[in-house]
Amino acid sequence: MKRITIAIDGFSSTGKSTVAKELANKLEYVYVDSGAMYRAVTLFAMEHGFITENIFNQNDLIKNLKDIQLEFKFNTLLGFGEMYLNGKNVEKEIRSLEVSKLVSKVAAISEVRKVLVEQQQKMGAKKGVVMDGRDIGTVVFPKAELKLFMNASAEKRARRRFDELTKRGDDVSFDEILKNVEYRDYIDSTRKDSPLYKADDAIEIDNSDLNLEEQFEIILKIVKKRIRES
Ligand code: C5P
Repeated sequence: MKRITIAIDGFSSTGKSTVAKELANKLEYVYVDSGAMYRAVTLFAMEHGFITENIFNQNDLIKNLKDIQLEFKFNTLLGFGEMYLNGKNVEKEIRSLEVSKLVSKVAAISEVRKVLVEQQQKMGAKKGVVMDGRDIGTVVFPKAELKLFMNASAEKRARRRFDELTKRGDDVSFDEILKNVEYRDYIDSTRKDSPLYKADDAIEIDNSDLNLEEQFEIILKIVKKRIRES
């Protein structure tokens, strides 16, 4: 069967990574969570004091980008690649609300995007890849055979993210999560470099009223059809 490139973009917390992981497992494709890469660079910037809620020394981060080594290591128990920053597993830290609050500022820097986009293109060079993010179908793989654009209401998305964080024991309020989701949507879709928008040839999936099984069934049908036609 022909191996294709599947690009999944969309707003924050639309369940892109859940679908992408499931698809990659089903098709035996590589899954790349590009958001994890922007989150890891943000964690690096926080650890080095380049960014806090009040300051952002962009030039210091840019100068130190060469010292950031990112790698996904496959965890067989979890069934996906976990993010390692300079040899350390940072999968838990990068999902915190602290990182979520700062990541969109870091992701708006062109120098950061250039480095990460190059790495993402290398990871997908052999096809057989499912990558999720904000600019995968528009910038990283504009010729991807299949582009999906996921959406859902901000309330639904914030509820999902809130459930996820409280389940793992983080002390967060629903309101601050909702604010963060809306704030990231705004920055991500209005930034100058690679703003989030739906590619003309992307198929939009609004999952506000779909459960995970229903959504996966719909998407799998689309994927199988596209593989047959490619
Ligand atoms: O997908 P996730 O919500 O983990 O992404 C975190 C942030 O990383 C996004 O809000 C966005 O600012 C940035 N991002 C991006 N381009 C991508 C993936 C993520 O700008 N391809």
